[in-house]
Amino acid sequence: MPYQSTFPALDIPNVDLWTLIFGQRQRDFSPAKEILISADTDRSYTWDQVRAASAGFGQGLRASWGWNKGDILTFYTPNSIDTPILTLGTLWAGGIVSPANPLYTVDELAFQLRDSGAKGLVTQLDYLPTALAAAKKANLPAHRILLLGPQRHDPSGQARHFSDLVSDPKTTTTTTTTPPVPFQPSADLAFLVYSSGTTGLPKGVGLTHRNMVANVLQASYVEGAQWRCRGGPDGQGDAQLAVLPFFHIFGLTCGLLMSLHEGWRLVVLEGGGRFDLERALAAIQRHRIAFAYLPPPVVLAFAKHEAVGRYDLSSLKCLHSGAAPLTRELTEAVWERLKVPVKQGYGLSETSAVVCCQTADEWAKFMGSVGKLMPGMEAKVVDEEGKEVKDGEPGELWLRGPNVFPGYFKRPELTKDAFSPDGFFKTGDVFRRDKHGNFYCVDRLKELIKYNGYPVPPAEIEGILLGHSEVADACVIGVEDPGKATEVPRAYVVLREGVAANDGKAHELEEWVAKRVAPHKRLRGGVWFVDKVPKSPSGKVLRRLMREQAKKERRAA
Ligand code: AMP
Repeated sequence: MPYQSTFPALDIPNVDLWTLIFGQRQRDFSPAKEILISADTDRSYTWDQVRAASAGFGQGLRASWGWNKGDILTFYTPNSIDTPILTLGTLWAGGIVSPANPLYTVDELAFQLRDSGAKGLVTQLDYLPTALAAAKKANLPAHRILLLGPQRHDPSGQARHFSDLVSDPKTTTTTTTTPPVPFQPSADLAFLVYSSGTTGLPKGVGLTHRNMVANVLQASYVEGAQWRCRGGPDGQGDAQLAVLPFFHIFGLTCGLLMSLHEGWRLVVLEGGGRFDLERALAAIQRHRIAFAYLPPPVVLAFAKHEAVGRYDLSSLKCLHSGAAPLTRELTEAVWERLKVPVKQGYGLSETSAVVCCQTADEWAKFMGSVGKLMPGMEAKVVDEEGKEVKDGEPGELWLRGPNVFPGYFKRPELTKDAFSPDGFFKTGDVFRRDKHGNFYCVDRLKELIKYNGYPVPPAEIEGILLGHSEVADACVIGVEDPGKATEVPRAYVVLREGVAANDGKAHELEEWVAKRVAPHKRLRGGVWFVDKVPKSPSGKVLRRLMREQAKKERRAA
């Protein structure tokens, strides 16, 4: 029998996401509440301004671009307080939002634009050259690129700012409400996020309005009932620091959408580049931040970095870790240092984000666990034949619930393989469940690598290596980076006959990849030379065998 969630079932209304967030009547905060705040510049929007500006942007899309239901807008931007407005505005107009990592190269972005068939692209001025080059490769006309963010004017005159399509979002006070298109929440997509799933290359994960409505309600219920994260009237209630990118499902659901729904103040670390711990700490102190969602390497910084001691972090109620495994030791280290609980959650793009999370009354007792199933979810832990294993034993986690996606975009074969005949999604992750209903991540069957919580599809990197004239074969896997709370991608490479394997060649191949991918996909685990790459009789790279070998090498070292 599948495991059932131990939380009470929730009523999930049959509405689109815009209506869930803006169309509902009862809230414990006023529409004039300042809801989106830039951490450094003090630019901000009230909840009502977001509502009016997003409806205004949606109207602009329909009037100026002839926007139709199902049209896709790709977002290629670091976090900005404008992002929620364009996101909700696209949904209002019946469109689908497809977020991309702003550090993608021209080819990576062009792939997503082509694969999704995007009708438009939004970006920021600093990212415009890459956006223009990718749009050209994907045959998207330059006039279909819009800017967001504080820099409104493109000196080259090629891109317009999104606010040209709407009246000034700072001053708009209209209360335009209902979206103009009829929605079928269970069928219509709201988001198309890219993930490598259980195999090879990135593919579109289509998430319906119902998926997202369900997960916003499921996760908000647990955050409110268990962790007492509260909205509340203006000047009160909790503030969240948006550290995670809105282009990743975790930041999109738990940061952007849940804040608008719950009335948490969302303080956004705007701009791109590397995560800046001092900037985040200063924002926590200045804005009296109550909680934040983080990947494990940032939790590590809270446990160990000397800068943490220089800031007043007394406003923190809890930290939420997800996107990759968090160890018990790290949780303990943060508790000992700051007396702040770090609760762990688990989720995937395919589940609209959150599947499990720890509860406030039990996190300390079950450190290392990812907690309990979200309300309304069912799970099986199965062996290789798809049979449920005995209680407490490890097996692949299969999931069913209202937040589970209907399938990969335009890929019926992959979708078929991803589900069991009785409709459970096969996660490719290995879990065990204890008798209290807590889940523990044990291993990963699938080939995905996660660097600092960001997905690295190994087949993509192998393809790039094989494009080098001296490489005969390649296998890319994730190896642990000791002390950094993350894994890193490593390549095992077979060189063509006569090519010398040495440090110089390894460096050359690392650079070859680095030039062609976003920074998180670089071969930080190095290039190792081998005589052959293990393959199945059908020619499939057996990355699992390489992973086992790498673990042995580590133990021996
Ligand atoms: P993504 O679709 O990028 O969100 O990646 C989802 C994958 O991240 C999952 O299938 C897991 O392999 C991994 N993941 C997410 N959260 C956790 C966690 N708390 N512990 C272990 N792995 C995780």
